[in-house]
Amino acid sequence: MIMEPSLTKTQSNYDLQEFLSGFNSDSKVKTILNKIGVRPSRALGQNFLIDASVSKSIVEGLNIESNDTIVEIGPGLGALTRHLIGKVKKLVLVEYDRRIYEYLREVLSGVDGVDVCHQDAVSFDVRPLYAEDTVKIIGNLPYSCGTEIIRNFLTFPSPVDSAVFMLQKEVVNRFCAVPRTKSYGVLTVMTCAFWNVERLQDLTFQSFTPKPAVDSAVIRLFPCDSDKYPPFNQRVLKRIDKCGFHERRKQLKKRLPLGDTNWGELCKEMNLQETARAEELSINEWINMARFLDDNPLKDNPQKSSEMFDVVDENDKVVDQMERSRVHSEGLLHRAVHVFVFNKSGDLYLQKRSVLKDSSPGLWDSSVSGHLDLSEEYHCAAIRELTEELGVSLGVDFICSIKPSENTGWEFVRLYKCEHNGPFNLPYSEIEGGGFFPIDMIGNWVQERPEDFASGFVECWNSYVN
Ligand code: SAM
Repeated sequence: MIMEPSLTKTQSNYDLQEFLSGFNSDSKVKTILNKIGVRPSRALGQNFLIDASVSKSIVEGLNIESNDTIVEIGPGLGALTRHLIGKVKKLVLVEYDRRIYEYLREVLSGVDGVDVCHQDAVSFDVRPLYAEDTVKIIGNLPYSCGTEIIRNFLTFPSPVDSAVFMLQKEVVNRFCAVPRTKSYGVLTVMTCAFWNVERLQDLTFQSFTPKPAVDSAVIRLFPCDSDKYPPFNQRVLKRIDKCGFHERRKQLKKRLPLGDTNWGELCKEMNLQETARAEELSINEWINMARFLDDNPLKDNPQKSSEMFDVVDENDKVVDQMERSRVHSEGLLHRAVHVFVFNKSGDLYLQKRSVLKDSSPGLWDSSVSGHLDLSEEYHCAAIRELTEELGVSLGVDFICSIKPSENTGWEFVRLYKCEHNGPFNLPYSEIEGGGFFPIDMIGNWVQERPEDFASGFVECWNSYVN
């Protein structure tokens, strides 16, 4: 049932009630397209859904709730949009066709909570979405760039909580493929390593106007549980996957960039046939292969509870040395550094902590942070942590000192900064991923959702901006 949307004003050349009722026939779609001056473009995948029950069932697949922020990609004439209006907190419509965008902006100008954007969804900036509570994406995607759009929204780490997409059937087959089939490939592995993919329904060309040349299908994606796979390096997985599937019938030992790795030993360790081909490896086996071939020295080393720290007094003078676990459990004063790494544009790199960390697992944090080793100077620790966590050797500049509190985890913190544009070589047992964010975007995100951040970062952030 369509709820009555809340209106602030009603001036428009177009009829909102007609829009909300839907354009459910060839002739209705033709009439409105003529009115707004659009000739359907094949390059923009402009095949419009005219089957109302299909539109409704696609939206139902997203399981929307009143507090959701929904981004609809390619809303077109609103076949899906009209089932979303009035039902969610915020609806963002991303439409590339200028005339359709202008039509939507006008017809929906009086509807609260709807934001119409004239943008290419392939390069839409997803980062502001982190400040929203629950973000769901939906779209009957243009076939020409559907996978590019999905990559933009769902590449990990992503602010998206779930997604429903309609794509051409052949592409859906690739998302849902199993090993030893023709459709199984890089797209399958790189998606399913992060997302559960469910096929919801198949559709024929009859549901659209103009009729597309191919059939379509609908998928739902939601993030894999954090313990489904062990931590791995996304860049290594992508590199070996691309090499492996480049000539899918060739044996992997002839295709993979093995460096000094002994293929026989790797196969023995992973319980693989030495003659294995790319299409024979499960997602799990691909991930284990990426872990094996990752040359980061800290890849399997989140933290050791037996690590020793200097314990300090309220004047930051060393008074004792104790094991990490005891220092933390007893709330003893100790020392740490944070480093803010900025790129040339002044954006700050934030890291997403691994779910394996013993403190603030899975939360967003400073570019680099860590404890001082025994008898280590703050400045030296900052440089060492930069190398260990991001794989870069750089000098750092002091910003400020922060007094210990519950929020810093009873750490005396010194905050430093430096400049680097990435990319970084992350130890995946410590850091799941990261990205550069403009300062004002972080400010808004911290304000809207402080629970997404390690409390030590929030202390550093507040000291930095104030
Ligand atoms: N949602 C409508 C429906 O189901 O009838 C229209 C779907 S139609 C297959 C694809 C829509 O995506 C069109 O409105 C087209 O103009 C828009 N589009 C094409 N390329 C786009 C892009 N790169 N970014 C955003 N929208 C795009």
